Amino acid sequence: MKIAMLARNAELYSHKRLKEAAEERGHELDIINTLRCYMNIASRRPEVYYNGEKLPFYDAVIPRIGASVTFYGLAVLRQFEMMGVFPLNESVAIGRSRDKLRSMQLLARDGIGLPVTTFAHDPKQTEEVLKLAGGAPLVIKLLEGTQGIGVVLADTERSAKSVVEAFRGAGVNILVQEFIKEAGGTDIRALVVGGKVIAAMQRKGAEGEFRSNLHRGGSAQPIKISPEERSTAIRAAKAMGLNVCGVDMLRANHGPVVMEVNSSPGLEGVEKATGIDIASKIIDFLVHSARPNQTKTRGK
Ligand code: ADP
Ligand code: GLU
Repeated sequence: MKIAMLARNAELYSHKRLKEAAEERGHELDIINTLRCYMNIASRRPEVYYNGEKLPFYDAVIPRIGASVTFYGLAVLRQFEMMGVFPLNESVAIGRSRDKLRSMQLLARDGIGLPVTTFAHDPKQTEEVLKLAGGAPLVIKLLEGTQGIGVVLADTERSAKSVVEAFRGAGVNILVQEFIKEAGGTDIRALVVGGKVIAAMQRKGAEGEFRSNLHRGGSAQPIKISPEERSTAIRAAKAMGLNVCGVDMLRANHGPVVMEVNSSPGLEGVEKATGIDIASKIIDFLVHSARPNQTKTRGK
């Protein structure tokens, strides 16, 4: 099979592992720098060009589109979809996952456990929004943040208000969330591939840190998740329409709550913590599922 991987950095652990896993199985995998692709949106003849040449037909495409290049990356991926190339994750599903509010609305629609989350545009409603989320302590986050940057814990009503005002002043969109204290600075990342949880790890924040992101100095270990956590992760992936994703959950007193669904989960932390060959499982899923013209949404 001929596979294209849309990625900017060929040297990243996850990208190298996926390439290795594909080649071990006798497939060809070309890493294509998303930002260097250019397109021709001609009627009925969608094409993608790269380094001065038209790209050949690929059987499948693995989008590894960084959050900072979502807009252009999704346009390139849609072009592949229009050409009938099977995407590991579809552009529409990735687009949903890049917007926390949109993601939470889709998860809520399917009855998936979530932290109480509120949102408003008008600064006049700040106090009501804070009250609706249950009052301090509250977590305030940037709608389009990643790696824990732009996630703030406000202990008091007053600090919550100033944080909201500061973010507003900077002109960014935010959401306000109940603080799940009982999670104790840990969260669970479940890796879902093709509707199954293939690995799970628990992440713990550095001392004194409520955010458990590995990028923020957190550490990871394998964890056995409960049947409820497993089914929550699988349902979350399905609600988003993602074949491959990392579902981040907190253990709340009333059961698992989903914080976010990541459509380009990093493989290094979870492979090293669990010893599971995730890259191979992803490639096996892709090879097994890829059929031409089988993109459900076709970018719509
Ligand atoms: P990012 O997308 O930037 O990683 P997250 O929403 O995943 O942002 O939050 C980063 C970390 O902060 C999470 O992994 C979790 O440990 C902690 N966290 C986020 N929201 C809450 C919450 N509502 N209650 C308790 N901890 C939270
Ligand atoms: N193609 C639709 C859109 O982008 C999908 C909507 C959805 O994400 O549910 O609006």
